[in-house]
Amino acid sequence: MLEKLRPPVSPPRTIVTGGAGFLGSHLCDRLIREGHEVLCLDNLLTGRTENIQHLWNHPRFAFVLCDVTKPVDLDALLLKAASKIADNFQCAAKSLDYVLHLASPASPREYGRHPIHTLKLGSLGTYHMLGMAKKHGSTFLLASTSEVYGDPDVSPQTENYWGHVNPIGPRSVYDEAKRFSEAMAMAYAREHNVRVRIVRIFNTYGERMRPDDGRALPNFLTQALQNKPLTVYGDGMQTRSFCYVGDLIEAIYRLLLSPQTGPINLGNPEEITLLELAKLVIEKTMSSSRIVFEPLPVDDPLRRRPDISKASVFLNWEPTVGLQEGLQRIIPYFKSQLAAVPTGSASSS
Ligand code: UDP
Repeated sequence: MLEKLRPPVSPPRTIVTGGAGFLGSHLCDRLIREGHEVLCLDNLLTGRTENIQHLWNHPRFAFVLCDVTKPVDLDALLLKAASKIADNFQCAAKSLDYVLHLASPASPREYGRHPIHTLKLGSLGTYHMLGMAKKHGSTFLLASTSEVYGDPDVSPQTENYWGHVNPIGPRSVYDEAKRFSEAMAMAYAREHNVRVRIVRIFNTYGERMRPDDGRALPNFLTQALQNKPLTVYGDGMQTRSFCYVGDLIEAIYRLLLSPQTGPINLGNPEEITLLELAKLVIEKTMSSSRIVFEPLPVDDPLRRRPDISKASVFLNWEPTVGLQEGLQRIIPYFKSQLAAVPTGSASSS
């Protein structure tokens, strides 16, 4: 595939949509550490300013409150940035190096609450950001998801598996939006020679997750730390494979610099049932919680485990933090989150 080859200027200039979110904010940190100028776009639907407040005064970081489902223009963003790096970006408006598109609610609870906006982010949002990458000759990185595989009938999932997705169920707003995003990104790669990188992100956990985002680990940890019952959905025999955020960010950064278009699975292949996970959380938090069983959400995938051979070969990457160690690392974070909110306001459902 022919690609526009343009040596990056120094320092690289990068846009991160969803930059105030869980993964987006960790990526902003990494990019700043690597010397990038970072323009972080977020409409704060599920992102939080506290995730990026430590970057607020950094001379190479600017935040713009922005909804990328509306048309986005770099010059207009820079006017809004009203910050120290705005001038730098202005001078280099034609040499934006990277566009990382992460903006989207990502937990089933959140995309269930915002179904239409989720669809718009994965369609109009992706279209707008690809347009910007095309205009400025930037590399475009799409945060896709293991949800493109739906409720997979093969395990582990390799990148050439086409998936088993319900196109009209409650999860479809996320699954199909990301599938559309991948198709759109590939079309821009083929038709306009945009350098595209597609990462399919499997379940990831770590500091800066919202305790109330409804996902399994934030729920279990907040429940266990409050000695409340852990809510296991279904019989708990469904599986997931959980990756520590630091490992994921390392891989995404390697992909960004690599010539691989992808899609490429990133995640930790260590698979666990949800019931085992609940028990492990109780053990690690030394909680007196019990386990209760609640109905399984519609279309909840029965199993999920990444085949990461491609990432291993092309990015020379594999995760380094196991689940036991990762849980140990994040317990203090969830404790601090609970200490910061009045008792009972963190999710226990
Ligand atoms: N889950 C659960 N209890 C909870 C939250 C989630 O048993 O309090 C289950 C959910 O049904 C799914 C798995 O945990 O099987 C992972 O759900 P999560 O929302 O973390 O993300 P998903 O992988 O489904 O996108």
